[in-house]
Formats: sequence, structure tokens, C-alpha cells
Amino acid sequence: MRVLVTGGAGFIGSHLCELLVHANHEVICLDNYFTGSKKNVYVLLNRPGFEVIRHDIINPIDLEVDQIYNLACPASPVFYQINPVRTIHANVLGVTNMLELAKRTKARILQASTSEVYGDPTVHPQREDYWGNVNPIGVRSCYDEGKRVAEALMMDYHRQFGVDIRIVRIFNTYGPRMALNDGRVVSNFIVQAFQGEDITIYGKGEQTRSFCYVSDLVAGLIAMMNVTEFCGPVNLGNPGEFTILSLAEKVLKMTNSSSKLVFRELPSDDPVRRKPDISLALEKLGWVPKVDIDKGLAHTLEYFKTAINGA
Ligand code: UDP
Repeated sequence: MRVLVTGGAGFIGSHLCELLVHANHEVICLDNYFTGSKKNVYVLLNRPGFEVIRHDIINPIDLEVDQIYNLACPASPVFYQINPVRTIHANVLGVTNMLELAKRTKARILQASTSEVYGDPTVHPQREDYWGNVNPIGVRSCYDEGKRVAEALMMDYHRQFGVDIRIVRIFNTYGPRMALNDGRVVSNFIVQAFQGEDITIYGKGEQTRSFCYVSDLVAGLIAMMNVTEFCGPVNLGNPGEFTILSLAEKVLKMTNSSSKLVFRELPSDDPVRRKPDISLALEKLGWVPKVDIDKGLAHTLEYFKTAINGA
């Protein structure tokens, strides 16, 4: 099959490209390199059936493809807030362009949505039938409202034009190939611990997140793309829930770091609690995450150690 992966040089996209190439698909990786990196796909460049195109999905592109994984969008709050209008455009113009491509080629399209569609949730854990609690005018709305429009567009192209769609809501994901300067909590804490810098905890660190290792997440994406008779949305995430403070302590312990914990102002609209209910993923896809936080962090630490030394 010919598979298009937008955002294919990004953290999750590059792991997905790798698995698809190993499964002998022809893979076209699109990336504008805003947050993705050519380094992430170096290992694939000499593989037959793999090609990379520098392209921003806010502009249309015409290709012949059978499946589209639409992952292109900065996902770290630090990066999606650099140019918020562009973030919205990626989710409205970009998603529309990909849906038009899917419509013309009759390709199945999977949209990477997010747990951010639940906003600061009043229901815990979050199930797919919860409609969310999102601030429509806040600093995160370029991303969370953007992704909500993207889901609406997907559903409307499905209902109005019969486009074959899949929607996954991705919860916090971590692992090798996160950018050192990504700004998200796992990469920040690891880099700070290795470099002996202060560990920056926003707020009191009592807020929670649930962290999914990247190999589990990518297995879920592929399962969802290939399931029949179910278009989602489906949550993909690891239900293990940790306070940010406990994550910091875990990273300190695993790195034997002497970094100090420092407390910084909590960014506005930062969700208080987040944990996926993944019973739908289990029922429809037979998917459950396999890598626990200790094992996943150990792999991630190894990657960061090398990446920091080579940087
Ligand atoms: N966070 C933190 N220190 C950091 C980076 C993030 O305490 O250096 C917190 C952040 O305020 C949030 C949580 O960690 O409560 C997860 O943040 P991240 O940016 O990784 O993802 P989010 O789930 O907020 O999109």
C-alpha cells in the first residue's frame, strides 16, 4: 500500500514511518520541519519505498495514496503557541487539504486528535462520549479548538461525502526522538536532570497526566487505521496517572541527578487532571499499552543521554 504520513519527520510520525516501512509499505513522509527533524528519518532514507517531501499541509498537495495518517501539527504547548494562527490553519486548512486528497483518491484518512479536546475535564477518567471543557478564547485554544474543528471536519467529510475516516485522541506520549527543546514535561525534566539544571515544576506539581510510551501509541495508530466498521473517535493513551511532582522525583531518581526542584507559575488553562478511559480501544481494537512508565522512561533516558552528548 502507498501510505502518506504527514508530520512524518516528527516524534510520533517518524516511529510510525519506521514501522510502515518495515511492513513493506511504500511510505511518503511529508514535513515542514517546524518541529520535526530530518535526523528522525535518516535511518529510513536509503530504504526502498521511503521518500520525504518538505511540505506544509496548509498548502494543497496532489499525490496518489491509499492511506493517510494526518499527524502534522506542533503538539507541545511551547511550540503550538509560537504562531497560534498557523496552528489553527494547520488544523483547519491543513486538515481540509488532506480530506480533499482522501476524497479524490478514496484513501482512508486517520486524524491525530488529542486529549486536549477534553480541555480541563470535569469528568475523570475521560471517555470518548465526554464533550469536554475547553476555553474557546484561551492561549491553548489554537490547539484544542483547532483539533476540535479538525474532528468536526473529519465527521462532516464522512457524512457529507462518504470519506473513509478514523479519529484517534492521543494522550501525552513520550519516548526517543522527542526534541531536546520540545518544552513538554518529560523531555524538559530529563534534559534538566542530565544537565544538573533546576527541574521546573509548573504550579505545585499536583496536576496529573498519563504517559504513553511511543511504541504503544504507534501500535494503536496502525490498529485503528486497519480496523473495519469503526471510525472512532477512540482514546489512545496509558491510563497510569502520575502527578507532575511524582514524575520529577522519578526522573531524579532514575538519573541519579542532584538537580533541585523549583516551582514556577502554572501556565493558564493548564488542565488539572488527565487520564484516558481506554475500554473502547480494547473493545474495538484489542489494544492496550504494554510498556509501563519505568521501562519507557529507561529507554527514553538512554536516548536523551546520547542525544545530549551528541548535541
Ligand atoms: N510542566 C511542568 N514543567 C515543565 C513542563 C511542563 O511542570 O517543564 C507541566 C505542565 O504545566 C503540565 C504538565 O507538566 O501540567 C504536562 O505538560 P506538557 O507541556 O508536557 O503537556 P500538556 O499535557 O500540558 O499538553
